[in-house]
Amino acid sequence: MIYLDYQATTPLAPEARDAMLPWLAGPEGMGFANPHSPHRPGRAAAAAVEFARDKVAALLPPGGRVIFTGSATEALNLALLGRNWKQVAVSTIEHAAVLDTAQASGAAVHVLETDGDGLVPGNIAIPSGTGLVAVMQVNNEIGTIQPVAAIADAAHATGALFLCDAVQGAGKLAPPEGADMIALSAHKLYGPKGIGALWLRDGIELAPLIHGGGQEGLRSGTLSPALCAGFGAAATLASARMEADASHAAALWVRARELLPDWTLNGSASQRWQGNLNLRRDGLDVARLMSDLRDIAFSAGSACASGSGRPSHVLRAIGLSDRQAKSSIRIGFGRYTAMGDLEDACARIDAAATAQGV
Ligand code: PLP
Repeated sequence: MIYLDYQATTPLAPEARDAMLPWLAGPEGMGFANPHSPHRPGRAAAAAVEFARDKVAALLPPGGRVIFTGSATEALNLALLGRNWKQVAVSTIEHAAVLDTAQASGAAVHVLETDGDGLVPGNIAIPSGTGLVAVMQVNNEIGTIQPVAAIADAAHATGALFLCDAVQGAGKLAPPEGADMIALSAHKLYGPKGIGALWLRDGIELAPLIHGGGQEGLRSGTLSPALCAGFGAAATLASARMEADASHAAALWVRARELLPDWTLNGSASQRWQGNLNLRRDGLDVARLMSDLRDIAFSAGSACASGSGRPSHVLRAIGLSDRQAKSSIRIGFGRYTAMGDLEDACARIDAAATAQGV
């Protein structure tokens, strides 16, 4: 099996797995202890959580705090529902965790359009009265990198706060400048599934969504030291490997583009995370392609939307017709992708598409 779906999730880094294991240990090591208990094993687990929190914070700007959540989806819900924002502005290419939550919040929702390259203009007009602007750092479907520092300035100029969904950018790029709130997910940066974080700039207050023991202050529920430790180790590794990971992705990108010359790129070629290759070939039957290539794990669009039968809202937003959107595939690669595997997969994807006569 060749895994080319790095935007859906990344493999767990061995270093992150090793950091988790002591906190999954059975009775002897007492790694299972509740990190909110005052006894010695509890305090040891709490220390592991705080160590991990510092490591995750190191990926983020100074002057804020990290709240662990169960996922980035929960972090985004906390940001969008944790205050009564009367009006919010969200880009049209946000993840459903932002778009659907904004709609559910009861706030008036203003949609910020992108251009045909999948970029929100940095000088976009934010309507007056907006309390919160949300624009992602890197799009999960087409990989475009948004000019978030300029958008944060535009938000602040109208008196709004700026929320950045950095799920696909964290650990790959410098943190989004100017953000007041940032959402992250461990499993997109080679950490475990089931843990995310919301970073809040100092002074930003929200009301909790999940009530109970108040373990994270703003968020209740017993933390998993294993998941926190895995997230922390993955964050440390991502910082250390940021340049190496980016240049590996760039080399893979160049080679994949050479091997797929008859495909059209969706989204900007230059303002883009190069581990994302979203391509189309007019008339392509993507379901047939996927069934012809069952030993290659790639995506027919966003993993979150796949299976819905609906064309991707992101591809529609950049001006593709339903037909073009439905003839698009996403190939995602990263740290553990071997060049030879990507070459094999591209050659086979290309041949299978050509065999369809498109
Ligand atoms: N935001 C983006 C851009 C994503 O790609 C995803 C996951 O696909 C999420 C948010 C949700 O993250 P999680 O899986 O941690 O809930």
